[in-house]
Parts: sequence; structure tokens; C-alpha cells
Amino acid sequence: MQYFKIYNTLSGKKEIFRSINPNIVTMYVCGPTVYGEPHLGHARPALTFDILFRYLKHLGYKVRYVRNITDVGHLLNDADEGGDKIGEKAKALKLEPMEVANFYTKKYHESLYKLNIENPSIEPLASGHIIEQIEMIKKIIDNGFGYEVNGSVYFDVVKYNESNDYGILSRRKIEDLMDSSRHLDGQSDKKNKVDFALWKKASSEHIMRWPSPWGDGFPGWHLECSAMSCKYLGEEFDIHGGGMDLVFPHHEAEIAQCCAANNNKGAKYWMHNNMITISGQKMGKSLGNFITLDEFFNGSHDKLDQAYHPMVIRFFLLQAHYRSTIDFSNTALQSAEKGLIRLFNAIKILNKLKPKEKSTVDISPFSSKCDLAMNDDMNTPIVLSYLFDLVKIINSTYEGKQDLSIKDINELKKLFEKYTVSIFGLCNSEEDSDPTDVEGIMSIILELRQNSKEKKDWEIADKIRDRLNNLNIEIKDTKDGTSWSYKK
Ligand code: ZN
Repeated sequence: MQYFKIYNTLSGKKEIFRSINPNIVTMYVCGPTVYGEPHLGHARPALTFDILFRYLKHLGYKVRYVRNITDVGHLLNDADEGGDKIGEKAKALKLEPMEVANFYTKKYHESLYKLNIENPSIEPLASGHIIEQIEMIKKIIDNGFGYEVNGSVYFDVVKYNESNDYGILSRRKIEDLMDSSRHLDGQSDKKNKVDFALWKKASSEHIMRWPSPWGDGFPGWHLECSAMSCKYLGEEFDIHGGGMDLVFPHHEAEIAQCCAANNNKGAKYWMHNNMITISGQKMGKSLGNFITLDEFFNGSHDKLDQAYHPMVIRFFLLQAHYRSTIDFSNTALQSAEKGLIRLFNAIKILNKLKPKEKSTVDISPFSSKCDLAMNDDMNTPIVLSYLFDLVKIINSTYEGKQDLSIKDINELKKLFEKYTVSIFGLCNSEEDSDPTDVEGIMSIILELRQNSKEKKDWEIADKIRDRLNNLNIEIKDTKDGTSWSYKK
């Protein structure tokens, strides 16, 4: 019996995954703040938790997966100051905030669809859960961990830390936080520098506002995830995920809010994907390396040598463990593209292999090796390395250097279907979208070539081979006849 182990940021170690309810896994992932074009920073958490979602389902669990859309409350900086990201964009473009949020939500969905990322079970909006957020604030105040000043409500981190551990997730010490937190003299209503906003009073020019017991205002960013995870998954649920940049303050604040309101940390397992760099640099508008997903897909950004198919981006992300940093560069993406073509070609070849009575190579350990790697905190790069070992075996079998029995060929088909299609979600869109029967056409061409060879018309035979070669199709004369494949 193999166990599925995941790295829990809360304990700082890998733990065997055991769901609270044996019949269903409940998971919450922080979604995007929808005020700009989707980019790689959006793709990585979406993909990491897509793999987890698919894998849990593969393990036989029913999964309720909630991924929110932040359409209110995320301010320009983490110190509860500055305008609302969506509100500011709406002002600049002279649009309703909901127009901005809807526009970028649609863009986000389109990009994720291209990346073959499955939809979560529930995708709640922060602006649709203002009542739940207000109710949670009331509980936090009633329990003595929130206070109101001038129409805003803050979370009393110092008071909370007396009976709880603020820093339990990020391993930060409150004393250090007190020293390093920014404090704008006279401008803050907070009791302590480390406190964070649960509700902010809306200034007269602030467009996104709702009535509340404390006057017109809007919720603090950290609150929405606590309120919505609690609403859809319960006060205690299995997995909470997101990017590593959310560990502090966002997730630390979420734990504090849930403990303060419900006396429960919320999630049992906290999982975080690492960050992405571009040619060794952090991605940022000021660095000129801010590349949107659309730009990757159509190659329109100056820094890109070419367009990259969404499956290449997906494959590239899977080549790194989700807890490792990953660096995007043209070279790395081009080699991912080559690797993906090799993988897809091997799958095509696998369907054409002629079985022999007995295998000359032992493929039996591969299935459990792949499962072991996947069960070890979703080690996708290791699984891929085993699949590429098998690609070599498939290619050499095709070239007549090895033999595979029908049982082994079927085993391999099952293994590739399971990992490349079901769990890794890699689909060969070329194949899917091509209604032409390439196999059929190629068999006609190869038959004609065979005829010319039999008539010793070498000129025609070579011409067919060379012309196909120009079309990226390689033909090979083996002892079993002529075969073809797309060039590697
Ligand atoms: Zn969140």
C-alpha cells in the first residue's frame, strides 16, 4: 500500500495525506486578483493545484475544489494603504469596477482553458460574499480579537498572539514583525503596527463600497478566503493552497482569522508552489520582462523568439517540482518543446508497434516507480524522467532493437494514458484538431514508394523520402518494412 505524501508548510515536513472525511477531499486555493492580464504567475498555482485535483480524483477521492476570484479588497500594498487594485484600474479606464473584474476574469479563464486546466468545483467572488465577511468580523470582534476605529475594523495581532501563535505558518516572530512593519505616523488607526484590516472605511472617492455595522466600507483582502472557505468547505477542511508569496501575510492572517472566529485553523494541510523567474530575474513591469500568457501563446513579446504552444508551457512547468523555483527562458522553452514532441511521437509510435511473443526488456517496475514519485509530494519531474526512459525503449523497439510483448505494449499504453493524459493533462491538440487520416495517407504514400523500389526506380523512392523529410516526416526502412514518424 502506497501513501500519498504532501509537504505541509504548517509542519515544515512531508506528511501522509489523510482527508478529514474519508469520502471527500475539501480544498481551497487562492485565485487571482482580476485587474490585469493573466501571466505565468497565475499559471503556476493554477497548474500545481490542477495536478493535485486530478491526482486526488485518480486516487478515488471525490474532491470539492474551491478557487476564488478576488474582485475587491486587494489594496495596492500590504500595509492596508493605497487604493483598491480593481478600483484604481476602473478609475483609470473610466469603467465600472465590475467591468474590469469581468474582463480579466474572462481572460484568466480563456488562458487556463488553453492550458487544459480543469475548472474548480466552485469559483466564488469576494464581492458576492460581503455578508459572510461581515458576519465573520462580528464573530472576531465578539471573541475579543478585533476592534473598530473610525469606521474601520482591525485584527488585534498582539492580543491574538497572547493566546495563539501568529507566525505559526510563516515562522515569523511577532517581535521581528513589530520592528520591520511600516508605520505611517498619524495616518494609521491601528493599535499595533502588525495589525491588519478586516474592514476598511471607504473614503468619499472610493467606488467599491458596501454598508456595514461600522459604516460604508469594504472588506480587507485576507478576510474573503477565510469567509468563503468556511462557507463552502466548513470550519475545518483538508487542503489550502496558493503561491509561496501568499504565506505571509495573506495565509498567516487567514489562520489567525479562522482561529479567532471559529477556534480552528481552517485547513489541515497548507501547500505552496514556488515562484517563477524570467531569465534569472523576477518578473516585473519595470524590468520589461512582464510577459502575459497570451504573449507566450502568440510570441508577440520582444523577449520571445517564437510563440509557445500552451501545452509546451504546461509541460515546462511539470518539468520542475512545484516547490522549486522555475526559470523561463527561450532556450529552456525550446528544449521543453522538443521534449514534448518526443513524448507525443513516442505515444504515436507505441500505437504502431508490432508485438512480439516475448519482451526483451523489463518494463514492469516503471508503473510503481511513477506512482512512488507521484506519491512523494507530486514529484512530476521524476515521473517524467521515467516516462522518458520508456520513450527510449519504445523508440528502440520501433527500430527493431528490442522486442515488446502485447501485454507489455498494453501496459505501456495504460501507463502513458494515465500519466500524460489523465494526471498531467497533456493533450496533443495537433492530433485532436486534425480531422485528416494521416496514417491512411501515409500508408498510401509508403505503398507507392514500395512499388517503385520493387521496380528498382530508386530515383522516385528517394524523391518521396526526401520530400517527406522536408515536411518533417522521417521514414525508415526496417526489416519489417517501411515505417514513418514525425522528426524528433
Ligand atoms: Zn486567499
